[in-house]
Amino acid sequence: MQELHHFINGQPVKGTSGRYADVFNPALGEVQAKVPLASREELDAAIAAAAAAQPAWAATNPQKRARVLMEFVRLIHRDMDKLAEALSREHGKTLPDAKGDVQRGLEVVEFCIGAPHLLKGEFTDSAGPGIDMYSMRQPLGVVAGITPFNFPAMIPMWKMAPALACGNAFILKPSERDPSVPLMLAELLQEAGLPDGLLQVVNGDKEAVDAILDNPQIQAVGFVGSTPIAEYIYARGCAGGKRVQCFGGAKNHMIVMPDADMDQAADALIGAGYGAAGERCMAISVAVPVGEETADALIEKLIPRIEKLKVGPYTAGNDVDYGPVVTADAKARILGLIDQGVKEGAELVVDGRGFSLQGYENGYFIGPSLFDRVTPHMEIYKQEIFGPVLSQVRAGTYEEAIGHAMDHQYGNGTAIFTRDGDTARDFANRINVGMVGINVPIPVPLAYHTFGGWKKSGFGDLNQHGPDAFRFYTRTKTVTSRWPSGLKEGGEFHFKQMD
Ligand code: NAD
Repeated sequence: MQELHHFINGQPVKGTSGRYADVFNPALGEVQAKVPLASREELDAAIAAAAAAQPAWAATNPQKRARVLMEFVRLIHRDMDKLAEALSREHGKTLPDAKGDVQRGLEVVEFCIGAPHLLKGEFTDSAGPGIDMYSMRQPLGVVAGITPFNFPAMIPMWKMAPALACGNAFILKPSERDPSVPLMLAELLQEAGLPDGLLQVVNGDKEAVDAILDNPQIQAVGFVGSTPIAEYIYARGCAGGKRVQCFGGAKNHMIVMPDADMDQAADALIGAGYGAAGERCMAISVAVPVGEETADALIEKLIPRIEKLKVGPYTAGNDVDYGPVVTADAKARILGLIDQGVKEGAELVVDGRGFSLQGYENGYFIGPSLFDRVTPHMEIYKQEIFGPVLSQVRAGTYEEAIGHAMDHQYGNGTAIFTRDGDTARDFANRINVGMVGINVPIPVPLAYHTFGGWKKSGFGDLNQHGPDAFRFYTRTKTVTSRWPSGLKEGGEFHFKQMD
């Protein structure tokens, strides 16, 4: 059995806590490796080493830091197939999806190569007699990222690239369910020329997370994962005086207006609802057609498309639409929620519960499920299912439809399908959700914009990637300078306006 490691001070390091977690191959339902779960002492040592390495990195000019990221991009392209294969093996997603996971992370690394420009401060010449004023963006010191299982390449890159570009040292605590790709990324950054100690990948569970939250040398924490853990990390991190941003769960609604192109809407729902087995925080899990006719037409178009979906292991080639869910626990939870939906009176139009694949009977596969006539009081509506399950909630009017999305506890992403510009504009303006698509089902912003949800999907006031990332990983210092020729005799006593 393969034993994974941590990556500390530029090299793989064995765990010493004696605690391990199983890492599965979800397609086979077998344990393929064990990953060490770090103790508080291991975390503290990794953080202390990062703190020792950080000042020299902060003093390295930003262009030199950016060059390390440039080389990192090249190495990722070189190793794309290897990374995607390792990712699919532990996560279960298809190879094209795994490459997409790497690619969307890579785009943020590319954006961060612009650090020399993005870190420039502001300057006011002659703010007063002989007085100049300027601001600097300085790194925070040692910062940490705690990341989820569902994008094991993209989200670690969203965190590490801006943190490092800004001159920080970075502690990554990836998901213990698929830790291999984050470790490979650390090795590639090392090969790209990142000095030792600046990126420490420490595997672990709650003990490692708490060690990060309690360590006074950690200045900022970026988290992505489920909402209960996001709330916990936000509260404990803030109480410890850290800068914290946490991105949580989702229940993304797609409103389908009667004037929408129904084929486009149905195609969009298939990709956004079932892609990556629904294990995406930007997956559409609720379709809200407006009017009975729209609802009936949508169901009619969805069913044959769902029946054509190919579920299988990533090794079966590119025509597989989605793979297994990540663990046996996740599978049991999703199947339990489908059962509950049936009990609560939702109409299970397509039932994916009995799905089985020859040769992969132990894999964590679930067939696609479609519920109709879901109502807001049902548990399958309130909770994030995070599986290949799409729910249809019928709305009588546009107001009722937008009301559902607005009243839901989550506010990560949403979409509207319509041909009417007025409706689309009204929707984009009024909806209380962070990322909005107009005839675009998964509106994930590109690297140079920012990514973040509202309500119970996001805690903290800056988003991920884009210019916000450079704000999150730096603090601003403003300098007022006056040279002797600008000084008046006797100095000044009062606090006054500059003239
Ligand atoms: P998770 O909350 O179980 O785990 C996320 C991280 O928290 C992992 O590193 C894990 O080790 C750690 N963790 C787990 N339990 C903990 C505890 N009790 N105390 C401290 N740390 C703990 O999430 P997941 O299952 O890995 O990921 C799926 C979730 O992430 C979904 O809810 C999904 O919507 C969300 N997600 C959100 C975004 C976003 O940007 N909003 C993006 C991707 C995923």
